[in-house]
Amino acid sequence: MSHAFHPHCGCAQCDRVERSDERRAEFIRARVAELSDDEASLRAAEEWTAGTFDGSHYSEVTLALFALHRTDPDKLEGSAVLTRLYRLAKTEHAALEQQLRLMAAAEWDREDAA
Ligand SMILES: [Zn+2]
Repeated sequence: MSHAFHPHCGCAQCDRVERSDERRAEFIRARVAELSDDEASLRAAEEWTAGTFDGSHYSEVTLALFALHRTDPDKLEGSAVLTRLYRLAKTEHAALEQQLRLMAAAEWDREDAA
């Protein structure tokens, strides 16, 4: 009997859908890890996300870099400027990683359709 997919339903049809969803999610996780170490992919992701942050983000990056340049490298550990940079890095990382996930998903879906 054919019916809408229910996770953990246990029937063969739902099992098949669940397994293919898990394989897709697993592929995307693994591929994002690979792409995160690939300079060309990172640059492609950056092109997609460039200009997409709100205006205050760019101001914060500029001011944090200004503060960084004025900070003695020996005084960086535990400093306020390092905390600011990590906070900004988290925002940038989330945006690029989301783009890498989309790229990985597109790869999987292309293979799937082929
Ligand atoms: Zn079922």
